[in-house]
Amino acid sequence: MENLKNVKNGFDGTEYVLPPLPYDYSALEPYYDEETVRLHHDKHHAGYVAGLNAALKKLAEARASGDFAAIKHLSREVAFHGSGHLLHTLFWSNMKPGGGGKPTGKLLDAIEGSFGSFDAFIAQFKAATKAVEGSGWGVLAQEMASGKLFVLTAEKHQNLTTWGAKPILVCDVWEHAYYLKYKNDRGAFVDAFCEHLVNWDDVAKRLG
Ligand code: MN
Repeated sequence: MENLKNVKNGFDGTEYVLPPLPYDYSALEPYYDEETVRLHHDKHHAGYVAGLNAALKKLAEARASGDFAAIKHLSREVAFHGSGHLLHTLFWSNMKPGGGGKPTGKLLDAIEGSFGSFDAFIAQFKAATKAVEGSGWGVLAQEMASGKLFVLTAEKHQNLTTWGAKPILVCDVWEHAYYLKYKNDRGAFVDAFCEHLVNWDDVAKRLG
């Protein structure tokens, strides 16, 4: 986790922070204008950082008091602000003055292996990103089981996930996962999962 403990990645070791832009506000002109970059970074991105830290503080208070009455709200807040912060941190770092063109080496090999060719990948990435309904993101992501690259999209970004987080423990609560035995009592299945089923050695192995 050491690589996450620096301001460049938006975390200072104690709390989330707004990473400074890796270039001047005007450096991406004329393709990305200074005024938009300034507002986007200093106002929008900063808002996600403040919201994430506030939600995590409220969650710590909930754990301390055992009062989870606001858990749905706080889970949504962490997903919304956490995704906003991590995706924007990646977004700024994914750009540079004089960028574009074509990658080389290992990344080009991975793209060609996953999509056939760089041109085919770019065509899919552009089409998928343009087709996002409403607000959202186009994403090139690496699927961890195969190492393959996928083009993903997110509508908005807060659908209870935090982009940038790697799952290490999951509990399936689709009805097919528990209905034959537990019927509508999802709570009993979740309790049994946590108290009798989790393989903590496996979870520990997945920790970065
Ligand atoms: Mn944005």
